[in-house]
Amino acid sequence: MSRPRVRFAPSPTGYLHVGGARTALFNWLYARHEGGIFVLRIEDTDLERSSDEMVAGILDGMKWLGLDWDEGPEVGGAHGPYFQSERLDRYRDAAERLVASGHAYYCYCNPDEIKAKREAAEREGKTWSYDRTCANLAPEDVAARERAGQPRAIRFRMPEGRTSYDDVVHGTIEFDNAVIEDFVVLRSDRQPTYHLSVVVDDIDMAITDVVRGDDHISNTPKQVLLYQAFGARVPRFAHVPLILGPDKRRLSKRHGATSVMEYERQGFLPEAMFNFLALLGWSPGDDRELFTREELVAAFTLDGIASSNAVFNPEKLEWFNQQHLARLSGDEITSRIEPVLREMGAWDDELRGARREWFHQVIELLKPRAKKIRDLAEQGRYFFIDPDGYEEAAVKKHLSAPGLSPQLAAWGEALAAVEPFTPAAIEAALRASAESQGIKAAALIHATRIAVTGQGVSPSVFDVVALVGRERTVARLAKLREALSGGATL
Ligand code: GLU
Repeated sequence: MSRPRVRFAPSPTGYLHVGGARTALFNWLYARHEGGIFVLRIEDTDLERSSDEMVAGILDGMKWLGLDWDEGPEVGGAHGPYFQSERLDRYRDAAERLVASGHAYYCYCNPDEIKAKREAAEREGKTWSYDRTCANLAPEDVAARERAGQPRAIRFRMPEGRTSYDDVVHGTIEFDNAVIEDFVVLRSDRQPTYHLSVVVDDIDMAITDVVRGDDHISNTPKQVLLYQAFGARVPRFAHVPLILGPDKRRLSKRHGATSVMEYERQGFLPEAMFNFLALLGWSPGDDRELFTREELVAAFTLDGIASSNAVFNPEKLEWFNQQHLARLSGDEITSRIEPVLREMGAWDDELRGARREWFHQVIELLKPRAKKIRDLAEQGRYFFIDPDGYEEAAVKKHLSAPGLSPQLAAWGEALAAVEPFTPAAIEAALRASAESQGIKAAALIHATRIAVTGQGVSPSVFDVVALVGRERTVARLAKLREALSGGATL
């Protein structure tokens, strides 16, 4: 078989949302797995609802996820243009071709009257189909109306019989043509309908497989008939199940962020989002969950798409983020954390230079507790900046014992002499200091943690002290003692 050509065809009437991104991702994975071509086409025929800003937002979302396209905006290609707004003449020509071949006809009925009839029927709970008033007008009649310039739409002439197509996800779908009315392909204002433009483009762009959301299933019969009317090969379809919120209702804003870029702003890693989206409605056939981009390309097949709806679980996304974060190297984390540290006033170019090794150790220590890059920076702030206060609950819980200040003074002196300044030696010194003072090691451990980090929770205090360093730890212990004696600053 020749290499597949697939497409993602967003309408730029909103930002790239989770469902759209997942559709794009499946197309991309399929193309990359098969060595095929991934086309990006912008369906902007609805000029009032589309905007350049939305197009830019969609491209940004795709770039962030690493979904590069082989043909489309910015990169061009042999099947362009890739904006539907630049292809209107093709749709008009195609509609006329359908009329010429007898697959469509001019309809002079007044659209407002038709709308009124349809709505009246709906109010009574009935459906109304176009009554084919114009389906069999005499040629002279049509010619006269054309001469008079009477406005008209172009309607598809539904053939009799049954039609079927194969859906990779849902199997063979067969329908009776009689249930579909003679639908409009070109409106009286010469605007194409979605069915016409999408089929004309998929034929022009030589699309072999249409992978798209389940919400398009009911559109497919009309489109299959259009392919046949154009004498074109019908592509293979794969309709991907809907994404539901945790309450099993269709994913929407009420479930939280639905725009992909909102997840970037929240500090999620693109590789985590990528992995998470890939498993929304697709499975590798075993229980693997954690994948790199390359592993997904290797594993992805359309057969793995589930026919049941997928559930968007935000906690799972956080889990993926944590897992992918844990797998990033020190240098990879450095480039992503730099802007956050800069924002905090904690960045120093030496973190890439002389202090690179030290910085990587800090990252390794903080990683197990962090869900996001920002957590690393915020939870590890004390590695870069002296604490400017102490967590109130921790102070209440651990610093109220009388006599703590002189005990910390003795411990500070011992610490100043610890050699080598390693976690094990620091721990031994702390325990010895506690023992010689007749107090519990825990009292010194808690106080040291609060002095050094300002917080009640941190990784192992001995690891922390070793990395914060002798001088800064001794100074921070002294500062805490000052605060203890002052009372008020605590
Ligand atoms: N532009 C359509 C949408 O955004 C997609 C059309 C298709 O994939 O066939 O829903």
